[in-house]
Amino acid sequence: MEKQRIKKVLVANRGEIAIRVIRACKELGIRTVAIYHDADKKSLFKTKADEAYQIGQGKTPLKSYLAQDEIINLALNKNVDAIHPGYGFLSENADFAAQCEEKGLIFIGPISTMLDRYGDKIKCKNLARENNIPIIPGSTGSVKNREEIKNIADEIGFPLIIKAAAGGGGRGMRLVKDFDQLDEALASASKEADRAFSSGELFIEKYLESPRHIEVQVLTDNTGKTVHLFERDCSIQRRYQKIIEYGPAFALAEETRQNIRADAVKLIENGGYLSAGTVEFLVGKDGNHYFIEVNPRIQVEHTVTEMITGIDIVQAQILIAQGYNLPDPELNIPSQESVKTNGFAVQARVTTEDPRNDFRPDTGRISLYRTGSGNGIRLDGGNGYTGAEITPYFDSLIVKVIGSDRTFKGAINKTIRSLEEMKIQGVKTNRDFLINLLNDQEFREGRADTGFLDQKLQLIT
Ligand code: ADP
Repeated sequence: MEKQRIKKVLVANRGEIAIRVIRACKELGIRTVAIYHDADKKSLFKTKADEAYQIGQGKTPLKSYLAQDEIINLALNKNVDAIHPGYGFLSENADFAAQCEEKGLIFIGPISTMLDRYGDKIKCKNLARENNIPIIPGSTGSVKNREEIKNIADEIGFPLIIKAAAGGGGRGMRLVKDFDQLDEALASASKEADRAFSSGELFIEKYLESPRHIEVQVLTDNTGKTVHLFERDCSIQRRYQKIIEYGPAFALAEETRQNIRADAVKLIENGGYLSAGTVEFLVGKDGNHYFIEVNPRIQVEHTVTEMITGIDIVQAQILIAQGYNLPDPELNIPSQESVKTNGFAVQARVTTEDPRNDFRPDTGRISLYRTGSGNGIRLDGGNGYTGAEITPYFDSLIVKVIGSDRTFKGAINKTIRSLEEMKIQGVKTNRDFLINLLNDQEFREGRADTGFLDQKLQLIT
């Protein structure tokens, strides 16, 4: 592929990831365009871009960031070369990527046909099956009625989990402990999936008891060549959503880690991928690993991998979109062998949620905002500043605190120290709960799995 210089990028997102992408562009000498809904007119991200345009007149805040035609027309009017979708919103939307391709705009991510495949969990599981990568037993395609599920359940047994093919963010998932719970779970999962993804397509698989969530960061160039950037452990979750992530996943056996990385690269190389992506696995109590899904986009926790490998994943995405291939000095990745980890990184997601009120998102004006930086701390913030208004329209992530150090405990201690220096007043946050989790002995010894958080709800103070 010919190198195609990108001079101007429109960031089709908001909050911390918009800032992250704008910064990467600036470091590469690329001009940036932010888009914002009226509800974001005082948000920090729009002040970081070279140009900012209001979108979504008469639309809800959420729908504005999903307004494909308006965003593409704006990009064309403003002489933009490429669109970075961040995560969420349009990032996994194959139609949007196809429209960008048609209009001559570079979509910074996989090509539309691949996005279609990788954004669908059923298609991905089939790809894994074809490549002899272990998957969790369950339906081979979508399931529609209880009889179909009953037949599969007779084979694999309860508990089961119902999942949405287009799922993300833990939505559309329901644990089914026995046959009596099936009808209700099926109905509510289908309703939730339909509402969230405009697709009620569901599948089922065996529910593993408290597995670990392990994921491999990959980068693929325009020739299909793929490198892995090691793995992250994202087992600290609440309602299937990640709260604390760390890397590398030192607590697993070295052989398991190597197998997981090899399977991740195999799946991606044989599937025709492009750009940065994440291959997710669950690891059972028996140490066996199972592929669950691919996230064909930048992820919230990419920061952990950047801190342990020194590779700027967002810059790499942009360079690959310009036609750079591995190995290239610009990409800073000469070969797989040259990718090394250095120490450990831990990320805690600070959200404006109230743990004492079932983690309900809180809103209001921030009357005081102070963070703790210093040695070994990276802060990727969204809209945190004194005077900022926290609205109910978007997700509640306010800042990611990433601590890194030569040792795991050192990285945890830096993260705790930073959180202790943090002072946010005017809206409630999960800060104290995060500190308690990070101080927990089981977590500090690397023993925490996906069952950990539920057992620690008493740490809410
Ligand atoms: P999403 O795309 O909504 O994030 P995932 O498929 O990535 O959903 O799963 C999110 C989390 O749900 C996993 O990290 C894990 O904790 C839990 N989970 C998913 N599938 C299973 C399963 N078969 N058994 C047990 N837990 C599961």
